[in-house]
Amino acid sequence: MSVTELTVAKTRRRRGFGPELPTEWQESSRCRGPQFELFFPPSGAESPEDKLDREHRAKSYCRSCSVCDNCLTYALARREDFGVWGGLTENERRVARLKSG
Ligand code: SF4
Repeated sequence: MSVTELTVAKTRRRRGFGPELPTEWQESSRCRGPQFELFFPPSGAESPEDKLDREHRAKSYCRSCSVCDNCLTYALARREDFGVWGGLTENERRVARLKSG
């Protein structure tokens, strides 16, 4: 998947709008490629067990991603509502936003 495709895919999955931020860091993201599908819920149903497994596998990429901090900062600033970004699920990012006020 190209950087443009990655950006477009992430943008398509975004709900709402946040501030425009640099996206060059996405060129170095570990989620590029077929594993990208792990980072967002499937279009069909997903059991709680499957969701946990998918998120766990996605986070394993984040742990070795050189742009993890950039990714999390971006997702928090843009209030990305879906998917794993910067090693955190959508619920974990909501908690992080609440804790930061
Ligand atoms: S931190 Fe995770 S979601 Fe963010 S770019 Fe890296 S691999 Fe992708």
